[in-house]
Amino acid sequence: MIIIMKPSATREHVEELSRHIERWNVKANPIYGEGTIVIGLVGDTGAVDKDALLRDPEVDNIIKVQEPFKLANRKMHPADTVVDIAPGVSVGGSKLVVMAGPCSVESEEQIVDIARHVQAQGATALRGGAWKPRSSPYSFQGLQADGLELLHKAHEVTGLPVVTEITNPAHIDLFADKCDCFQVGARNMQNFELLKELGQTRKPVLLKRGFANTMEEFLMSAEYLMAGGNENVILCERGIRTYETFTRNTLDISAVPVLKRMSHLPVIVDPSHAGGIYWMVEPLAKAAVAAGADGLMIEVHNDPAHALSDGAQSLTYESFAETMASLRAVAAAVGRSL
Ligand code: PEP
Ligand code: MN
Repeated sequence: MIIIMKPSATREHVEELSRHIERWNVKANPIYGEGTIVIGLVGDTGAVDKDALLRDPEVDNIIKVQEPFKLANRKMHPADTVVDIAPGVSVGGSKLVVMAGPCSVESEEQIVDIARHVQAQGATALRGGAWKPRSSPYSFQGLQADGLELLHKAHEVTGLPVVTEITNPAHIDLFADKCDCFQVGARNMQNFELLKELGQTRKPVLLKRGFANTMEEFLMSAEYLMAGGNENVILCERGIRTYETFTRNTLDISAVPVLKRMSHLPVIVDPSHAGGIYWMVEPLAKAAVAAGADGLMIEVHNDPAHALSDGAQSLTYESFAETMASLRAVAAAVGRSL
């Protein structure tokens, strides 16, 4: 339920009304936008006395949010949310974020070298997996805690904020000062215990869409994070499973405008895991920017042929540089910058 206040409503009045509403055992979130003030109600609103609220002279209207996601809903928060992952690195503004790096952290030389190269080409964050959720238990599982240390080292060398995947809520403390943004991978999008624990932190979370999940399920997972109080959520479309086998997944480009319409949260696209083949990354990334994505996550490797995971979809330094150049042109065409 959303209470739309008249523009004349004072902050004091809105705060007082919110406290009054919470006596009905719901959470009342006042949101002060440009020219709009709304109070979003979350929880069981069955007991809320709508007629009494409408008698308040500063209440303009009350609307029911039909969708099950409330905090993530655009109706609750008409303006775009901007998530700051580090000083000067925001997701959701006019400047696009580019999170680039290897699928897996493999060694200090590898991650520091890649970090330097992607930064030189304009990447604004470093990605790299320390814990790798692999389909096979016999595949490389990541350097784990050592990988986190190496990511931190690359951060110290370059200053790039670090985005890395967390698979286990018990690791939150370990990750806390080693990364700037948690990544929740596609396989864990509905790991609700993980989401609940990450919701208790205030560190940004990059939430990837599960490969067989609907938009509504995706937004309900964002809602889990936000319900815990963590509003720093970035959505990531990374391809879904369809009947097509040529590509690793099918990039659902429509997810970008759909999510932007349904939610105020920033949306980025991962063309690497979508196409699964290096030469598809650039055209898919361009399509994502043209469709309104707030940024990209791109896998880049110093030696893709010998990568311990996802070499086939990893860009070389040269192809990453070319991709960045063509993305700059597309970004400019849609009024954004890289
Ligand atoms: C990754 O980013 O390396 C990864 C495993 O992605 P996803 O969860 O989208 O498969
Ligand atoms: Mn990968």
